[in-house]
Amino acid sequence: MLNFTVGPVKQQDSILAIGGEQIPYFRTPEFSQTMFENEQLLLEFANAENNSRAVFITGSGTASMEAAVMNFFTEDDKVLIIDGGNFGHRFVELCMIHRIPFTRIIPTFGYGITKEQLSVFDGKGYTGFLVNIDETSIGVLYDIDLISEFCRKNKIFLIVDSISSFLCDPFDMKKNKVQVMITGSQKALACPPGISMIIMNPEAIDRVKKNNVRSMYFDLKVALKDGERGQTPFTPAVGILRQINVRLKEISASGGVESEIRRRKSIALDFRSKIKKMPFEFVSHSMSNAVTPLHPKTAVAYDIFTILKNEYNIWICPNSGNLKDEIFRVGHIGALSISDNDKLIEAFEDLQRRKII
Ligand SMILES: *Cc1c(COP(=O)(O)O)cnc(C)c1O
Repeated sequence: MLNFTVGPVKQQDSILAIGGEQIPYFRTPEFSQTMFENEQLLLEFANAENNSRAVFITGSGTASMEAAVMNFFTEDDKVLIIDGGNFGHRFVELCMIHRIPFTRIIPTFGYGITKEQLSVFDGKGYTGFLVNIDETSIGVLYDIDLISEFCRKNKIFLIVDSISSFLCDPFDMKKNKVQVMITGSQKALACPPGISMIIMNPEAIDRVKKNNVRSMYFDLKVALKDGERGQTPFTPAVGILRQINVRLKEISASGGVESEIRRRKSIALDFRSKIKKMPFEFVSHSMSNAVTPLHPKTAVAYDIFTILKNEYNIWICPNSGNLKDEIFRVGHIGALSISDNDKLIEAFEDLQRRKII
């Protein structure tokens, strides 16, 4: 099975092997050491400023998105949300559930946001900003420099969901003055789903400490406190955290985050150059290295997904809702190679021969 989805993705053998081991008891100095290393490497890869912290939530990315909305904002905030697709919309729903006042910014379909779209909100008393830096549902990568400049100018607290972009596109918490970054285990980290991570700069840690969150599982104060000794408040997904540990160390040993991003980019660019001869249109005018969304001009997108899955043993990533028949996505994350790209291109060529596309 060749997996070109955007998560869960193909795990490399060294990570897969750990999945077959017994799960160790975790209230031990050994597991604390694993967690310290995980936190340290994450902070390093995000280039978080001094005295930043990372906490590990057992729950998919949405759990950390919800924890972020609950811990960093209150009913007294006034938040801007880039609502450019399924994931942006999830922040809208979370703010509704938690009664955080918000305004949506809706980008033109397939495009990032512009300076003009942001400047409308200059000096209007906004206190928070929520963005999925790669809106994975339609593969649009927003301009972090632009957003960060706007937030700094207006003294706005910036939370970036970088779940699909982390390890794929350059990202620098310190340079861009990002207060909070969220990522997850099953995208470019290429581990099983089940762990999400919240990286906080000192300002964000301060907000957590001052905020009174009405939740047991999502109160980050406790997670921060227990993290000081390399532990989590509740039983975490121990096995996945051990897999994350090995993966992070391997990235570190093979050139660090820049090299990892370069590998991702070369696979994405290779695919994009080879796909040009196919009857597909690029959907996004601002792509992350994580994924290429495509619109088939001569066939129904979801049919291509089904045929590749059932007849070629290849998974591409279907879209849902009203884009189901219009768009499919090809992910470039996980243990994929250039020759895997070639296999997918060959399958597309076969679909052309069969007059399916
Ligand atoms: C995958 C993803 C998430 C997390 O979704 P879960 O299914 O909860 O893991 C959140 N935001 C973005 C941008 C994503 O790509």
